[in-house]
Amino acid sequence: MMWNFVMDYDRIFSQSLTDIREEGRYRVFMDIERKNGDFPAATWHIDGEEKDIVVWCSNDYLGMGQNPKVIKAMEEALHKVGAGSGGTRNISGTHHYHVMLENELADLHAKEAGLLFTSGYISNEASISTLAKLLPGCIIYSDELNHASMIKGVLGGNCGKRIFRHNDVEHLEQLLKESDPSVPKIILFESVYSMDGDFAPIEEFCDLAVRYNALTYMDEVHAVGMYGPRGGGVGEKRGLMDRVDIIEGTLGKAFGLMGGYIAASKDIVDCVRSFASGFIFTTSLSPVITAGAIASVRHLKESSVEREIHQERAATLKKKMKQAKLPVMPSDSHIVPLLVGDPVICKQASDTLLNDYGIYVQPINYPTVPRGTERLRFAPNPLHTNEMIEQLVDALAEVWQKLDIAKYSSAA
Ligand SMILES: *Cc1c(COP(=O)(O)O)cnc(C)c1O
Repeated sequence: MMWNFVMDYDRIFSQSLTDIREEGRYRVFMDIERKNGDFPAATWHIDGEEKDIVVWCSNDYLGMGQNPKVIKAMEEALHKVGAGSGGTRNISGTHHYHVMLENELADLHAKEAGLLFTSGYISNEASISTLAKLLPGCIIYSDELNHASMIKGVLGGNCGKRIFRHNDVEHLEQLLKESDPSVPKIILFESVYSMDGDFAPIEEFCDLAVRYNALTYMDEVHAVGMYGPRGGGVGEKRGLMDRVDIIEGTLGKAFGLMGGYIAASKDIVDCVRSFASGFIFTTSLSPVITAGAIASVRHLKESSVEREIHQERAATLKKKMKQAKLPVMPSDSHIVPLLVGDPVICKQASDTLLNDYGIYVQPINYPTVPRGTERLRFAPNPLHTNEMIEQLVDALAEVWQKLDIAKYSSAA
């Protein structure tokens, strides 16, 4: 052995960073400060200075992160029980707020039980891998555009996997048909795909699940709070919640806080609770967050105003962009993606919007989306005013001109 050999660790790390910089996909985090009561306005901290900006890419889709009821519930909880949970769920970390929230979430999806995790990412990774491990010989059928956390779950499950083309019912059926009928199967998909804003054919997937004796696992992260009469997601909107075996959601997007969950039958939830490492061996969510989430979920069960204005804002923004011949990618949901098609120009467009117009929208590059489809992804909010929309579209028209980015070639 050559113990006089010196490994140059520093060079390996710095080369990795140089590589992604050259590809134009080095991530720069914006240092922002949201102002309670003023969302989507915020302050940007840059080189010791402060600048006013309008945020156009927040996943706090309905502004619930600053909802007065949510804030009040968190203040009360903080003073009542203190800041942290003080333990894992098993060792003194199950508070009454956790139990109430799990009941609230089970009710939201009309399931027997709910289970909380510290994030939506963890809820997917932990639940999917655990279910796969408990089902001997399991094969997971996963949409090719599924979120990183679901992919991680599949890998962790050490099971068979088949990737079907995005939202392609026929391809899924073909793969199911090729498999041994006696083997356990899980069909894994999202209700809304957040980068393109398209919806899954939930009913068709559920039909296939019946025909081929599979479980269905649906990520509703970008839909909970936002679709359905009580905010139960696309499943609720389409009357399909009872047909999906496991519904997964987050408290970090429309509900405005943080944390993730699944809702399913009592036994499925009990299995994940009992076997999932990512659930068991970690400190439970702060009761303060949990209390805020209860208020947020309850509010959105009763109030549809936020949902309605949100959909109207998204439709208005898309319409205005199309009128300005900006290349809005087809999207039926609240997501408004604008195609740029090049990582470096995408970043330049985002920088120009920020520096010259005070408009903050994050460039979305590979690996989040396929190369060549780099985009700006707008998340309109009920609190974006007509004036903000006008300013945005005018600014985009100028930036598209300046950077010579392709517009709509035909009237869409
Ligand atoms: C954001 C996201 C998650 C992760 O949820 P977090 O609560 O942010 O960890 C899971 N699935 C999808 C589709 C997401 O977009």
